[in-house]
Amino acid sequence: MNLFPMFDVGAAWRWGSFVPPIVAATYASPAVVSQLAGLRCRDLIRHARAKSRLYAKRFKHLPVDAALTEHPSVSRAELMVHFDDWVTDPDIRFADVNAFIADPSRCGEAFLGRYAVWTSSGTTGVPGVYVSDPDTLAIHEALLTTRTAGSSGAASLWRLMMGGGRLALIAAQDGHFAGITTWERARRASPWLNARSRAFPVTARIEALVAALNDWQPALLASYPSMLSVMADELEAGRLKIKPTALWSGGEELPPFERERLSQSFACPVHEEYAASECMNIAFSCSEGSLHLHADWVILEPVDERGRILPPGKPSASTLLTNLANHVQPLIRYQLGDSITFLADPCECGCPLPRLRVEGRKDDVLKLPAAHGMTITIVPLAIESVLEDQAGIHQFQLRQSGPHGLTLRFNPPVGLTQREAWPRVEHCLREFLDHQGARSTAISLDPAPPQADPVSGKLRRICGAAASPRA
Ligand SMILES: [Zn+2]
Repeated sequence: MNLFPMFDVGAAWRWGSFVPPIVAATYASPAVVSQLAGLRCRDLIRHARAKSRLYAKRFKHLPVDAALTEHPSVSRAELMVHFDDWVTDPDIRFADVNAFIADPSRCGEAFLGRYAVWTSSGTTGVPGVYVSDPDTLAIHEALLTTRTAGSSGAASLWRLMMGGGRLALIAAQDGHFAGITTWERARRASPWLNARSRAFPVTARIEALVAALNDWQPALLASYPSMLSVMADELEAGRLKIKPTALWSGGEELPPFERERLSQSFACPVHEEYAASECMNIAFSCSEGSLHLHADWVILEPVDERGRILPPGKPSASTLLTNLANHVQPLIRYQLGDSITFLADPCECGCPLPRLRVEGRKDDVLKLPAAHGMTITIVPLAIESVLEDQAGIHQFQLRQSGPHGLTLRFNPPVGLTQREAWPRVEHCLREFLDHQGARSTAISLDPAPPQADPVSGKLRRICGAAASPRA
């Protein structure tokens, strides 16, 4: 997230050029926004057909003026296999991008001097690598500053910016993930911001995070809902002693009751961003707590199991995403996997942009026994970060099989059998659990493969004691 593009002159100019049309579209009629999106969509498809070998091949049987819904959908696996044919700039090569992201110290650095690059976790089994051009980044920042920061508790965020408050992000740091990459990118662009912001690893022990936050005293705390929820527990227990002006939630589903609880516990507004690595702005939360689609820059099609588009009020089996902002790596009818429901009723906040509900990832927070009758809390992103970045596996399912046991199912990395990969996986997990203080927790291997949700294709990767993986 970068709320401060004005500290980079080039970025500020681009940001400024996108702000007026975004402000105008925020309160325009649905028909006007739909027409605008339609024009941008045609432009994107024309560009993809001309510059992306992958899309040129896939769309060659279609007339140039075919409706978006006539185009075939694409999966992450397909795009990643054909990465060099997918991108529209031939200077971007998969091998070079991989070499770039293999170096953690380059997180936030511009690739080829102009692109932002980040990776995503493999919730669908295949990690993604995403490239954003300068316009995409400027649109992302303009949407953040005008809509996300301009809606729920706008005054609090602007006060924070002007009042010299500190910023804290708790996120996965062992890789070029979207959250930490955009954060680092903003810090590199602005010495002023660099001095005021600090990122904390999601894999740290909760008591260490609490101590660090007590020391840092952030005015803005940004993290995943599961981590913010754990921090609310710490606040209520009297261990966390911070008074943030605002919370920022993203990366996982934030249920309405949890949002209300966070807002009440911390006595401040909660800014929610529905985003994905594939599209950094999909929807933003308003003062009424509703999520509104950035319908001028994103097209979402809720579909059923057979790919048929659903009307408002019907929860989808999956969702097709078309990102109208990014022309360097076009995403046209991309199978996002999330279940969404468009809501037909207008929002009391007055914003006519479409409202939606999201049912995204549902991984559990683990509660594990520790010494002296204590309980260790571990958020799902922390374990996922360890298994992905340290153990090198992406398709896994960790299930709490009892108070003292965890059972892991996983698919081994390419070139290894499960038996060959297991010692390293077990070592990484054991080391992490020991560091967290959960030494009495046993880890066992279940040789069965992880079971993805048969409808969405997504894996429920972390299942707590009360849950079991969906077969
Ligand atoms: Zn609203």
